[in-house]
Amino acid sequence: LVDLTGKSCLVTGAASGIGRATATLMARLGARVVAADVDAVGLAHLAADHHDVLCVVGDVTEPHDVRRMVSTAVERNGRLDVAVANAGVLPLSDVLETSPEEWDRVMAVDGKGMFLTCKYAIEVMQANGGSIVCLSSISGLAGQARQAAYGPAKFVASGLTMHLAVEWAHRGIRVNAVAPGTIVTERVRALKDEPGGPEYLDQMARAHPLGRLGEPAEVARAIAFLASDAASFITGTVLPVDGGYLAR
Ligand code: NAD
Repeated sequence: LVDLTGKSCLVTGAASGIGRATATLMARLGARVVAADVDAVGLAHLAADHHDVLCVVGDVTEPHDVRRMVSTAVERNGRLDVAVANAGVLPLSDVLETSPEEWDRVMAVDGKGMFLTCKYAIEVMQANGGSIVCLSSISGLAGQARQAAYGPAKFVASGLTMHLAVEWAHRGIRVNAVAPGTIVTERVRALKDEPGGPEYLDQMARAHPLGRLGEPAEVARAIAFLASDAASFITGTVLPVDGGYLAR
């Protein structure tokens, strides 16, 4: 059902976690994938494991870099069918701990970075249509403690998704988002060794009605579905992939 054969796909933040799982799944589903990230070492590992994925080092907060990510996909594949705006930073801090500089940094990557990825993808997609998937979060649909900058930035992802879906439907461009619960990426796994980390992970696992945290591959499958023609009548949706977290 979910087939991406021949689709030209760009995935940002593809050097680790959900982005890496998405880039590799999309390649397995037949897509021609361009993987972008600011982390050159992580991208080199991805390229070594997956020769069919073309890697581009760049920063999603820089318009010039995002244009280059998009143009690499267009030069390689003649068009851009799918963009996954996934790159992000995920700090945990309450409003008193969050400095004005930290607010700017989170908004730059998670807010402006997502805006730029959508903007330059739409610029080329307007000719042939396409599909964009943004990474929101359960924190982009409901309030959480200790996410004073990250949570509002993820509301930007949810809002951008709905507004751009309405704005570009007439050109055959669908815009959706996934809203993952807590997903066991390398960084989340590393919390086990930090003070209070094991307790936090236990408490988060219990907060998901399915009784565990999610895996990057489980989010990647939802992203691939929304990106594909199997979701041809779905646009403007923010799909929780959260083990029931938001249904409580
Ligand atoms: P991760 O840290 O494993 O991966 C994020 C990637 O983005 C990294 O490879 C990083 O180098 C890259 N990146 C950061 N800043 C960048 C920049 N300026 N330009 C280009 N690349 C940049 O994190 P993840 O958990 O896989 O998160 C991926 C997305 O999923 C994020 O948008 C995050 O907010 C969202 N998300 C994650 C979770 C979770 O529990 N892990 C939950 C909900 C939403």
